[in-house]
Amino acid sequence: TYKAERYGRDFVQIDKWYPSSKRCFHCGHITDNMPLNIRTWNCPSCGTQGIDRDVNAARNILQSGKAILAG
Ligand SMILES: [Zn+2]
Repeated sequence: TYKAERYGRDFVQIDKWYPSSKRCFHCGHITDNMPLNIRTWNCPSCGTQGIDRDVNAARNILQSGKAILAG
């Protein structure tokens, strides 16, 4: 929060149970299981392949925060 204030940015806290790692950024498909040793997101629904799991999760978190800001 203080860093956002320092730099004049918005801070949005999303639900800690939001499935950011299990959700496909492209199509919204949520997988049942995403163990930590799996580092790459491959979507069984839309066919997205080879996305770094943390990048996929970060995109989901950003999208969720923007949705909250937009109301
Ligand atoms: Zn997908």
